[in-house]
Amino acid sequence: MSRRIELVTGDITTHEVDAVVNAANSSLLGGGGVDGAIHRRGGPAIGAECRALRASRYGRGLPTGEAVATTAGRLPARWVIHTVGPVWSEREDRTPLLRACYTNSLRVAAELGAVSVAFPLISAGVYRWPKRDAVVQALDAIRTAPAGVDEVRLVLFDDASRAIADEVYAEVFG
Ligand code: ADP
Repeated sequence: MSRRIELVTGDITTHEVDAVVNAANSSLLGGGGVDGAIHRRGGPAIGAECRALRASRYGRGLPTGEAVATTAGRLPARWVIHTVGPVWSEREDRTPLLRACYTNSLRVAAELGAVSVAFPLISAGVYRWPKRDAVVQALDAIRTAPAGVDEVRLVLFDDASRAIADEVYAEVFG
């Protein structure tokens, strides 16, 4: 497979890619963290499309693990792909849902014709997924997803997450 996976540090809203993935919440109405940053910087067109999607298809919310695309508004990208990560649970293994976020986002991206996609570290913020395992699942799900998108970036927001991701990357690909 020819997919390239690159680790980068910084703010995902500055990335020039075909599709930026948003760690949304199921309401699709915006929130904090990366979701807030994407809506702020992308402008109101994203929220308007999200509200339309709620009205037409997701009245009960976007289910965890699923993905749906909207315009990217003023972001330097063509689309935002919204996906809802699982909240970390001590009692229940929600790993398949976390991995589904990556594979479903890549499927939606491929359907759109996107060649390059940037992901944040889904569920690793407010949803409390342990960082190291969030990176393990992200890299492995991206690596093993069906072909279709050639260039994937995993965007780490801070240096500490980047350091963890570098270690995991070496283990997974080294
Ligand atoms: P979730 O609710 O899925 O946990 P969060 O947005 O709270 O989503 O956090 C997901 C990850 O995104 C965290 O690792 C957080 O540090 C990171 N993050 C927050 N803002 C940005 C941003 N502007 N660009 C990239 N990553 C971000």
